[in-house]
Amino acid sequence: MAEENELRYDPAAIEPKWQARWASDPTLYAAEPVSCGKPKYYVLEMLPYPSGQLHMGHVRNYSIGDALARHMWMRGYNVLHPMGWDAFGLPAENAALKNNTPPREWTQANIAAMKRQMERLGLGYDWATEVTTCLPEYYRWNQWFFLRMYEKGLVYRKKSKVNWCPECATVLANEQVVDGCCWRHETTQVEQRDLVQWFFRITAYAQELLDGLDKLDGWPEKVRTMQRNWIGRSEGTEVDFFLAEETQGSGVRDQGSEKQGIGNREQGAEKQGIGNREQGTEKQGIGNREQGAEKQGIGNRDQGLEKQGSGVREQGTEKTRIRVFTTRVDTIFGATSVQLAPQHALVAQFTAADAALKTQVDEQIEQQKKAREAGDLGAIEKHGVATGRFAINPYNGERVPIWVANYILADYGTGAIMSVPAHDERDFEFATKYELPIVQVIRPEDASLAVVLPFVSEDGILVNSGEYDGLGCTEAQKKLQEIAARGKFGEGKIIFRLKDWGVSRQRYWGTPIPMIHCEKDGLVQVPYDQLPVVLPAQIEITQQGGSPLSRVPDFVNVTCPKCGGPAKRETDTMDTFVDSSWYFYRYTDAKNANAPFDPKTAQYWFPIDQYIGGVEHAILHLIYSRFWTKVMRDLGLIVNDEPARRLFTQGMVIKDGAKMSKSKGNVVSPDDMVARYGADATRMYALFAAPPDRDLDWQEDGVAGVSRFLGRVWRLVTKYAPQARSASGQPMAAATGISLKLLRKLHQTIAKITLDFEGRWHFNTCVAAIMELVNDIQAADAQLAAGEVEAPVVRELLRSLVLLLAPLAPYIAAELWEALGEEGSVLRAPWPKSDPELAREDELEIPVQINGKLVTVVRVAVDATPKAMEAAALADEKAQARMAGKTVVKVIVVPRKLVNLVVK
Ligand SMILES: [Zn+2]
Ligand SMILES: [Zn+2]
Repeated sequence: MAEENELRYDPAAIEPKWQARWASDPTLYAAEPVSCGKPKYYVLEMLPYPSGQLHMGHVRNYSIGDALARHMWMRGYNVLHPMGWDAFGLPAENAALKNNTPPREWTQANIAAMKRQMERLGLGYDWATEVTTCLPEYYRWNQWFFLRMYEKGLVYRKKSKVNWCPECATVLANEQVVDGCCWRHETTQVEQRDLVQWFFRITAYAQELLDGLDKLDGWPEKVRTMQRNWIGRSEGTEVDFFLAEETQGSGVRDQGSEKQGIGNREQGAEKQGIGNREQGTEKQGIGNREQGAEKQGIGNRDQGLEKQGSGVREQGTEKTRIRVFTTRVDTIFGATSVQLAPQHALVAQFTAADAALKTQVDEQIEQQKKAREAGDLGAIEKHGVATGRFAINPYNGERVPIWVANYILADYGTGAIMSVPAHDERDFEFATKYELPIVQVIRPEDASLAVVLPFVSEDGILVNSGEYDGLGCTEAQKKLQEIAARGKFGEGKIIFRLKDWGVSRQRYWGTPIPMIHCEKDGLVQVPYDQLPVVLPAQIEITQQGGSPLSRVPDFVNVTCPKCGGPAKRETDTMDTFVDSSWYFYRYTDAKNANAPFDPKTAQYWFPIDQYIGGVEHAILHLIYSRFWTKVMRDLGLIVNDEPARRLFTQGMVIKDGAKMSKSKGNVVSPDDMVARYGADATRMYALFAAPPDRDLDWQEDGVAGVSRFLGRVWRLVTKYAPQARSASGQPMAAATGISLKLLRKLHQTIAKITLDFEGRWHFNTCVAAIMELVNDIQAADAQLAAGEVEAPVVRELLRSLVLLLAPLAPYIAAELWEALGEEGSVLRAPWPKSDPELAREDELEIPVQINGKLVTVVRVAVDATPKAMEAAALADEKAQARMAGKTVVKVIVVPRKLVNLVVK
């Protein structure tokens, strides 16, 4: 019994001991200077929001990253493995309301609690590079970037429809609207409101963001696909239909209004380029009073669209144009209607003198709003209404009716389309419903093929298209585009689904936007030497609308930096996605007080070699940070185009088949698991229970099983440590019999685990391989105890076992390393190398079946022929006993796998 007790594995004793030792050595997990001469490796897990409690998803994420970091340290790399806090955001304000704790204190207490949990888990972070985004030393650089981007024309203001959560009393990004409800308030319907907002011009990088995805071959394909769809590039043609003179219709139309120019985008927003802010502002003042007065932004397409038709009034005989966007201009002779979004400027003109039409259009706007709120615009039931007005096809002069339709979106393309029912599913459905003509203008290349409409293929030939008959679709697209350009009624166009990034939040707990409103000077930047604009500490948080900062006079009232007169500070704060867009650059130089980071140091560490996080960040965080990287490159701060070379998205941790959540009562606390089974078992289970990219169904039995396994390792190593310590010399040269067998198993295991760390990431099978190795060593216990395995072999086996465990279960590895009499930290010991000669299997175990039932196993050479396998099976004693008195009628051999004897 005494001996049993001595050998008992007790993580509660081992783990705190090593935790204290590691904490006393801040260099242990510190990145070395750029000059160290080692190859670099930057491994990063997504930084958490400091809610106060790690959840199992965190534990899984960090266990993967930590195992990789430790492995790379053992491989001799200079590793950067930092951690920080995405510390701004609404929950701090909600908690402040609920518990009457200031957001700052609440956040800091949460950070301290989570840091304690991380340290207890033994996660190897370099805390000297810790980044906390709610501290002025960090967010001043958000403000610095904001100003630099403003100067580059990458920041602007515009009035726009925003998603408003009545519960949060703030604006939500589109992405924060889930099924029409707030992402934080799953049952609160999001409303639409008009507000003047700050935007980042991410669309200026749309093409580059798209192209860059092709090069990110270290990213999961699903993430790249999601981003491609999000960016949503369409190549096509913009074409002007002309508004026909009114020959019929409902009511009196104002002649003047008909002449108003539609499609005068060029003169307004579009030509204004990046870096052209001054010019843009000037141009806005001309012919567009509204835009000028609001000091709205520059060069934004949405804005241009909204203002179509309301701005420049054309003189003379120029006809009113309706600009449509189409990806299939080759089908334009089949256009049987033009359809406008209900918000299209021309629609307002039509409805001004037509009350019945106005009622129907208003209904459509309401339908769109409801569909948008339900998050299901794509599935909207399609309704349309004829305006009684006609448009003229610029290619053939044909008149087609103008409709208003609820599925046409004002903020996509030009807010107007041509409807070609013969060659578009949606148009076909609509035309059928409203009995609009359907005119086929494309036929299959093989004219003998029957055509079922709609025929949407681009492998076809134009028909019913006048002089263009006989052209192929692609050729026709090119030609018709050229003709439009020459005739000045259209042009080739690329449009994106991606919208500019609205960053204004009417909240307290975020980065103050460093701008000042002066009655005399308009918008004035906060001078760089006045950064940071610090959040006031004492503030009353309420859930009433508007920014809490607007109620702090000391914050709001400032002196204008330009004229010295009284002015008001901007009270919006920035979206917290700003904080997480560049935090990983700050890790490389976290204490820099003069710049966001040192470009040389960043150049050494970037790109991130392995970024690890949840797939829920596939779009927002990962597009925003790619955008930010490109902006920083263009500001001359960095040289890389992309932040991360490789990305891994781990699966979720679920319990009883459902996502862990308080409301379901199925949350497993990491603290409980660590208290019961130890940090090593908890972490190793998180790696073992499922392939890392799949969902993991948390089973406490499984954690207990891993803990028992670590107990076996503990007893095995401590039992034979004296033998290992007594060893001298190399183990390989003379090994035979059981020694050779065990060494072979060891080197196969090393090879497998090394391969997994190099990118296969099957950590679950890694752990299983270590378990197999331990089984094999334990199976040889009698020989080990009898001294039949040479001491150098014992030493090699135990030492390597501990090294293999070190990235996965660092505490037990540290303790056993010491028990083996090894010097230095196991965390810096060289990773074991697999000897390919030793790892090579020279015999295979082949199951032998008789009439499909397993009866025995035979050993054959790895390269045994089917004949040799058959001979070995027939020669086996057990097999012969079963076959006594019977005849073999057939032998089935699966090379290297199986022999089946069919007997009668
Ligand atoms: Zn909300
Ligand atoms: Zn001023």
